[in-house]
Amino acid sequence: MTNLFDLTGRVAVITGGNGGIGLGYAEGLAAHGCAVSIWGRNAQKNAAAADKLRALGGKVQTIVCDVSDRADAARATEATLKEFGRIDGCFANAGIGGGGRHAFVDRSEEEWRRMFAVNLDGVFHAFQPVVRHMVERAKGGDAFGRLVATSSMATRFGTARNEHYAASKAAINSLIAALAVEHARFGITANAILPGWIDTEMTEGLQGNDKFMDNVMPRIPQRRFGKPQDFSGIAVYLMSGTSAYHTADTIMIDGGYSVF
Ligand code: NAP
Repeated sequence: MTNLFDLTGRVAVITGGNGGIGLGYAEGLAAHGCAVSIWGRNAQKNAAAADKLRALGGKVQTIVCDVSDRADAARATEATLKEFGRIDGCFANAGIGGGGRHAFVDRSEEEWRRMFAVNLDGVFHAFQPVVRHMVERAKGGDAFGRLVATSSMATRFGTARNEHYAASKAAINSLIAALAVEHARFGITANAILPGWIDTEMTEGLQGNDKFMDNVMPRIPQRRFGKPQDFSGIAVYLMSGTSAYHTADTIMIDGGYSVF
């Protein structure tokens, strides 16, 4: 019987793959024989993630990369291609949020600017050079590409329904839809995932934030909590050929209520 999720020989990039949800993606993909290139800005965390993946028998490369820097992401794309010869999927996952009690109210304009640069620009910076490579490959007869955005913009005021939050979600989803339409002819799909609440370093910081706990937490349906590992199946599915029916979808977990 055909293994619908056989990813052996496929190659995935995961930005922010050295921790949290990204590492969950990486573990699931590695366990299915997919080679993984982790782009993370912390060399030590990258090395620890690589050890975990190698223990699963996975081929792994780590690249120190700050995705808020366009040139750095372009360099990381080149380094991944040099190592593995191809990129089949890119998970734009790197993000900054949390910040505990002061997550929403005490940040300076400069801090907000830096945060947005990671959460939104980071998606463009990773996808642009990777898509260029996927399109070139498709023109050579090898049409396969998977783009997935988990990264989402942080809201300023700690309420799930404010306009800023809605506008930022719409921006990411519009980008995904536009990429999907533009690149479908090259066998490239693009999807977004909005997690509800996944226990990571980022969400840990929010537990002490009263405003968040009062305003946002009650809106997460059934107040479910997930673990990064719960996402690995989603990553495996989206990277496989089986997912070709899904393009431009926003996959919402627990209704998609999340702040980061
Ligand atoms: P996390 O545990 O904080 O992981 C985020 C990852 O991004 C870390 O590995 C972090 O590395 C990396 N990163 C941050 N800035 C970076 C940069 N400039 N360049 C490269 N890597 C960078 O967060 P998470 O909970 O796994 O969240 C992952 C993504 O899902 C984020 O985009 C977040 O907005 C989104 N999200 C999460 C939830 C949730 O419930 N957890 C809900 C909705 C959306 P460092 O250690 O170097 O910072």
